[in-house]
Amino acid sequence: MVESIRKSAYGCTKYIPGKSTSQVCQDYNLSSVIKLGSNENSYAPFPVIKQAMLDEIDRIGIYPEKKYVVLKQIIGENAGLTEHHVGLGHGAGNVLDVVAKTFIEDGDEVIIPEKTYSLYTDISKIMGAKIVKTAMTSDYKIDLTAVKNAITDRTKLIYICNPNNPTSTIVDKNEFTVFVQNLPKHVWVLLDEAYIEFTDADLVPDAISLIKQGYNLIQVRTFSKYYGLAGGRVGYMLADTSVADMYNTVSEPFNCNRIGLAGAVAILNDDTNQADFYAKKMMADREIMAKKLESFGFEVTKSHTNFLFLKTKYQGADIAEKLLHKGVIVRPCGGWSYPNHVRVSIGNTQENLEFLAKIEEVLNDM
Ligand SMILES: *Cc1c(COP(=O)(O)O)cnc(C)c1O
Repeated sequence: MVESIRKSAYGCTKYIPGKSTSQVCQDYNLSSVIKLGSNENSYAPFPVIKQAMLDEIDRIGIYPEKKYVVLKQIIGENAGLTEHHVGLGHGAGNVLDVVAKTFIEDGDEVIIPEKTYSLYTDISKIMGAKIVKTAMTSDYKIDLTAVKNAITDRTKLIYICNPNNPTSTIVDKNEFTVFVQNLPKHVWVLLDEAYIEFTDADLVPDAISLIKQGYNLIQVRTFSKYYGLAGGRVGYMLADTSVADMYNTVSEPFNCNRIGLAGAVAILNDDTNQADFYAKKMMADREIMAKKLESFGFEVTKSHTNFLFLKTKYQGADIAEKLLHKGVIVRPCGGWSYPNHVRVSIGNTQENLEFLAKIEEVLNDM
């Protein structure tokens, strides 16, 4: 322990990313591996994104334009708001971090559902927050009643991941709307919509409308999943201008890179809807995979994301390890205290078929 390091840093845990393809090839002596452990988009890069990024390389010696007006304008206008409602970051992870930095003071309480994206806990802890965890419902959903009951005079932020990672569930949109409308004035909700494009738009709360009406809500989105830009690192938040302005003051001056920005602008301007085309394929495959996995004996949670959350009678870690030997990376959910669950990303159709074949082999060997 280094005396001089901020004490709260020792309370944090390292983010555990999914295993990488090259690491698994090496460790298991394989020549090819299918990576379905990190919810990446297997159809990336979409042609329109690739071309824009290649063109941008000529300007790599120049700092990106500080205010990122071009991308902010498109995002703001698409939401029926303005560029002044937008804050960008190198991935939603960075956006979450800047929001935590902007809001949390030592001793503030933050509420985090028990089984959700792990980053919320650490970015809050480092700011000196007291973490209050709330139980999930028995059907793997975020329990908004439990969250509401956990609010105190010291609550500052509430993290709601919708659809939720790793359980793939959504909250009821009307319940969420009422929940936000009845928040005490000192409490803010950070709504992480990393997977929102993979569910039915009719099922999700209208966050923008709540923001327009002045409720304490911050919407966070990413280009990593639906748009296939995980390596380009672009995410954003939408909120009232007073919050967005402070967000942009607190964040480091150049927290997006030229190449990622060029890709993001290109895909938002893409009138051939390439992202939507691939997402539809993934959603169709998702339903086929769910049925097949059920026929193999898995309990499959209805998914609103680009991944499936599977319950098995075996240890999830065991299944994941056996799949690794066959060159398929999935994510066991023991880290979320779901020892019998596995999370598997929807890949391209070829990968999905191979995954199904391999997991059938694994089950036959168990
Ligand atoms: C993947 C993910 C993110 C952010 O990803 P970035 O690559 O940092 O944009 C944020 N929240 C959840 C729930 C995610 O699964």
